[in-house]
Amino acid sequence: MENKFIIYNTMTRRREEFAPLNPPFVGVYVCGPTVYGDAHLGHARAAITFDVLVRYLRYLGYRVRYVRNITDVGHLTNDSDNGDDKILVKAKLEQLEPMEVVQHYTNSYHKNMEQLNNIPPSIEPHASGHIIEQQELIKKILEHGYAYEINGNIYFDVESYNRKYDYGKLSGRKVEELYAATRTLDGQQEKHNPADFALWKKASPEHIMRWTSPWGEGFPGWHLECSCMSQKYLGEVFDIHGGGLDLQFPHHECEIAQSTAAYGHEAVRYWMHNNMITVNGQKMGKSLGNFITLDQLFTGDNEVLEQAYSPMTVRFFILQAHYRSPLDFSNEALKAAERGYERLMSAVETLGKITPSSDGTVNVAELSNKFHEAMNDDMNTCILMSYLFEGVHTINSIAAGKEKIDAQNLIALQKLYHDFVFDVLGLRAESSCGDSKNKEVLGKVLDIVMETRNEAKKNKDWATSDRIRDNLNAAGVKVKDTKDGYEWEILN
Ligand code: ZN
Repeated sequence: MENKFIIYNTMTRRREEFAPLNPPFVGVYVCGPTVYGDAHLGHARAAITFDVLVRYLRYLGYRVRYVRNITDVGHLTNDSDNGDDKILVKAKLEQLEPMEVVQHYTNSYHKNMEQLNNIPPSIEPHASGHIIEQQELIKKILEHGYAYEINGNIYFDVESYNRKYDYGKLSGRKVEELYAATRTLDGQQEKHNPADFALWKKASPEHIMRWTSPWGEGFPGWHLECSCMSQKYLGEVFDIHGGGLDLQFPHHECEIAQSTAAYGHEAVRYWMHNNMITVNGQKMGKSLGNFITLDQLFTGDNEVLEQAYSPMTVRFFILQAHYRSPLDFSNEALKAAERGYERLMSAVETLGKITPSSDGTVNVAELSNKFHEAMNDDMNTCILMSYLFEGVHTINSIAAGKEKIDAQNLIALQKLYHDFVFDVLGLRAESSCGDSKNKEVLGKVLDIVMETRNEAKKNKDWATSDRIRDNLNAAGVKVKDTKDGYEWEILN
């Protein structure tokens, strides 16, 4: 049995045995959302991937400090140094305060994360709450000669950094190619070099999100917050930094350069990146019309969707793939995940009702080894799922009387499924069938109540008829009279 936890380090491009700097403590930093829009499938995959990482580390006995930030300033629309702040654009569009936009989408992100059963981070720092720390970091980088000021803007000096260190080492890009690729972009004339990126941007007169600084009023560059807040809460060197593959360049490359320029060494020991989700084989994008938010997924309210999918179906779907593999969304795949999830949960329920025999043929140790091996193999949830279903087969055979299990193995099997299904994979029982049953019963009860109301109406007893309607309304059921009877809905 492989009992070392192996993870693929994106920086070294190698599988490495995970060994924390200060066991049993483990620091994990994950790039969180820029809060200017509804969370979508891509957010779900990143959050679930690192949720399972944190869950598994805790299962292994580590004490994890899990930091995931909220980007609420400095992320410009073109991900570069031009364009407007994404939050400011939204605020202007909806005539809101920028911080109203931030609060609204932070709340909805939290709601979605809770629906997906993701554990909240230990610390969730906001970029806007760490402006002073970000300015201090800029001062360090300036002092060390890796940044320069022009017209109230501070740019990171890639060329001078690259003379001593290696800019592009995470993404494998070469500085010369970056120069060539970015040279043609407009509006970057004031930079020494097109590959340089902003640490601090001067605020134009109409820019609302602004702070005073030694270089005039402005706001921090997007990449700066993660260097700053990861090291503030996890230390100058910490264990794991995670995020989506789309953040590898330029975001994480810039983070590495900033931290190294400030401290003379890298901050992160293991870099982990989850792969992207495509929709019916295409990259997901607003302009492509295949953009699916989590709220839409859970309600079915999107043209791409043939039905609603529950949060646990979505979680199961994401966990069926290895986090470094691409994953394609389709209605077929989601429906298959729904069936798979239900089969697994029903087996777990069955497992709780099995009575042991005095002797048995089932050996749980072997299955347990397989579960651990799969997770230790760079969190291979895909393989883990196949072993879980191997066990489901066994559980169902025991329940059908085809196989026997003794008491000791039964307890071990119950604990194993509890640990891996609920604690490690973070699945939970959804009472979807319970919900529809409740709705059915409620419908019958309403028929009885409405019959009484119809009689009152027939007798022109308007007081009783209105009272029934109002009381139902107060109880959270909205009743609407229609030509052929009535319609009802539960108010939220
Ligand atoms: Zn980040």
